[in-house]
Amino acid sequence: MTHDVVIIGGGPNGLLLSCELALAGIRPLVLERLSERAGMPKANGLVGRVVQALDQRGLYERLSGRGGPPAAAPGFQFGALPLELHRLEDNPMFMLPIPQRRLEELLEERALELGAEIRRGHELTGLSQTADEVTAEVTGPDGGYELTARFLVGADGGRSTVRKRLGVGFPGITDRSFTSRQGQVSIDPPVAVPGTGELDVPGLGRLRTATFTRTEHGMFAYGMFQPGLYRVSAIEWSSSPLEDSTSMPLDELRDAVRRVLGADVPMRVPDDADPGLRRSTSTNSRQAERYRQGRVFLIGDAAHVHSGIGGPGLNLGMQDVLNLGWKLAAEINGWAPEGLLDTYESERRPVGERVIMHTRAQMALTSPGAGITALRALFGELLTDPGAIRRVAELMAGADVRYGDGHAHPMTGRWMPDLPLNTESGATRVAELLRRARPLLLTRTSGAAKAWSGRIEEVTTPDAPAEAVLIRPDGYVAWAGEDTDGLEEALHTWFGAPV
Ligand SMILES: Cc1cc2nc3c(=O)[nH]c(=O)nc-3n(C[C@H](O)[C@H](O)[C@H](O)COP(=O)(O)OP(=O)(O)OC[C@H]3O[C@@H](n4cnc5c(N)ncnc54)[C@H](O)[C@@H]3O)c2cc1C
Repeated sequence: MTHDVVIIGGGPNGLLLSCELALAGIRPLVLERLSERAGMPKANGLVGRVVQALDQRGLYERLSGRGGPPAAAPGFQFGALPLELHRLEDNPMFMLPIPQRRLEELLEERALELGAEIRRGHELTGLSQTADEVTAEVTGPDGGYELTARFLVGADGGRSTVRKRLGVGFPGITDRSFTSRQGQVSIDPPVAVPGTGELDVPGLGRLRTATFTRTEHGMFAYGMFQPGLYRVSAIEWSSSPLEDSTSMPLDELRDAVRRVLGADVPMRVPDDADPGLRRSTSTNSRQAERYRQGRVFLIGDAAHVHSGIGGPGLNLGMQDVLNLGWKLAAEINGWAPEGLLDTYESERRPVGERVIMHTRAQMALTSPGAGITALRALFGELLTDPGAIRRVAELMAGADVRYGDGHAHPMTGRWMPDLPLNTESGATRVAELLRRARPLLLTRTSGAAKAWSGRIEEVTTPDAPAEAVLIRPDGYVAWAGEDTDGLEEALHTWFGAPV
């Protein structure tokens, strides 16, 4: 049996892709080498446009435990400088705090509900392809086997076996000029301020939560996830003679915090949580030379890695997934227009380049030295200007993305705002109309896309922001116009020949 799509890696990006494909009626197979999900803490949450994108799939409520639509965040940081987002009228920054482990559990639950197959304890070891299919060599609990698929997607993380087996280069830099230590620890009162989640450190006073404190020795950051349980990290501006470790002793974290802050933060191993103590001695900032080779695609960390400053990883990776998912489904379902699949790389690789740019810039802004302190003072002044706050917030949120160029209408290529809409079936909003990951046409006059009605949802509403707005399943505007001239051509270009 030849599978339609095999996804290598059951991390957040592989799991989300399996949901997207399953929504389009495909039964993807996910191969995950770990037989059980790793306990090591990774992401603390989602930052940026991806929060609204997940709301379009009805996942915001499931992941946040709150009703939608998501609300914009009042503040954030760029390079450990404050961003007063509450001063922006149309604030583009959304956040959803959730531990990565929980995110993966909920995405897996959703993928299984939708009919995806997930095999744990199955590792891809080899890969080859012809013009028609991909063959994967797999080692599972009962030994080795081969399977074939029409397409294979590498969602297997920064050290991606898929990328290596394809021979796709991963150029960039490895920065060894600092050492980062982090862990999940218990901190007791009075240092842990009851009710606020803040730390009141003897000799320093209160430190702001979920922000970086930069000193001449490094940076300190912390956040509370449940009363008394904190994620603490200390970054020092010096290389370490030690190796990376995922089993560092707690004393090492405590000592690093003391060196960075010049003060003690009393902490202990939590009673009932994995402390996840880890030391990293380098940060990679790299991007795959290609995101597609023949019938194989790379998504998420397999396609790009960068500093975690500002939490951009999942915003970037999960939007790779949402971009690729509907296009791959269109190909498999037989209606993808010529060249559609290639737009995955042409659209997403430049977005990855910008994330690498801003994370490198932020790391530079947080490094030590009088010159950087002066640069920070200047940046700090610039970031009191709402125009500059907006520019940086849009960059970090991925809200400045515009696919394609030379568009006649200002909405084309951009994110579709989540407008409230009055329709014949009642009041709704754009995100609710995209739950099924189908193309959406908003028109003021009905019937414009009748010939595509099996493939496209057409909703007539006086609240459409133009006469016709054609929206892709990933939430970006494929085409918009003040009349319907050009709509038919756009329907052909993006959604193939009529049904
Ligand atoms: C400490 C830390 C904190 C972070 N904080 C944030 C944050 O707050 N916000 C944010 O957005 N991002 C954060 N990130 C980044 C985020 O965790 C990654 O971007 C994200 O995990 C990438 O997801 P992925 O699915 O692409 O890859 P991974 O999560 O790496 O998943 C890849 C999966 O593939 C499996 N696999 C690998 N090789 C094979 C194989 N050969 N066969 C089968 N399976 C295989 C692995 O076991 C793994 O489960 C953080 C990362 C770290 C390390």
